[in-house]
Amino acid sequence: SKATLFDKGTKVTITFSDVAGLDEAKVEVMEIVDFLKNPKKYTALGGKIPKGALLVGPPGTGKTLLAKAMAGEAQVPFFSMSGSDFVELFVGVGASRVRDLFKQAREKAPCVIFIDEIDAIGRARGKNAIMSNDERESTLNQLLVEMDGFGGDSGIIVLAATNRPDVLDTALLRPGRFDRQISIDKPDLKGREAIFKVHLKPIKISSKLDIHKLAEQTPGFAGADIANVCNEAALIAARKGKETVEMEDFQDAVDRVIGGLEKKNKIISPDE
Ligand code: ATP
Repeated sequence: SKATLFDKGTKVTITFSDVAGLDEAKVEVMEIVDFLKNPKKYTALGGKIPKGALLVGPPGTGKTLLAKAMAGEAQVPFFSMSGSDFVELFVGVGASRVRDLFKQAREKAPCVIFIDEIDAIGRARGKNAIMSNDERESTLNQLLVEMDGFGGDSGIIVLAATNRPDVLDTALLRPGRFDRQISIDKPDLKGREAIFKVHLKPIKISSKLDIHKLAEQTPGFAGADIANVCNEAALIAARKGKETVEMEDFQDAVDRVIGGLEKKNKIISPDE
């Protein structure tokens, strides 16, 4: 909620079956789930369990979904916050929110903490920070203090997402912090088909629907765009009073989503 700026240890029902494609990322994430479930198995031989991993990839590709699925698979609570929520806070407020988040997480460990858009607080100095430097630095420092303050066997895994790993302060990437990177790319044809299948499940589709063709018609779409297409198509068909959603409804929905993406890119591009 806005009052606390983070999600307080919610129970998650999402699992890996809700995440389509991303096969390599899933394998890496499953290793981390096993650290959470059986820490002693790893520490027995003197190994140090990683505390955090960075999920790197473009918007809407399933980073949040994967982090949630990890908590769901391990059956542990999910805490989350977004770096962008800390923009424009007064000095010290961000740091105390971070301290609060980790305090609650320690009480509920084992658990997963997810920090979305970590670049908003974790940018290296002088790289067009959105926040004032003082505030960003005190929030970032608190995060580093918290990461250093628990052991790898404490049952807390911190995942952070970004699409700009290049701008991150290298202090975040040191051993014992976010020392693993998992890349989450936009889906290829096969991945898009798998994502369509996940999001078509709740929809009453015509038996003639060609899912492969839909995947072919949506190059460059992220998972979030595909979810959007499925929902739009259902609404378009319903508006026409249809009993099932047909290929033409999906095609209209694809056009609509492409139109939306183009508008968004026009607004975003001057900044790039
Ligand atoms: P952002 O960086 O914008 O926060 P993200 O990478 O965290 O994006 P999500 O929030 O996980 O993206 O994805 C948004 C929604 O898109 C998901 O809730 C899900 O409905 C859908 N989606 C994205 N990727 C996938 C995927 N691989 N499989 C199934 N659904 C997906």
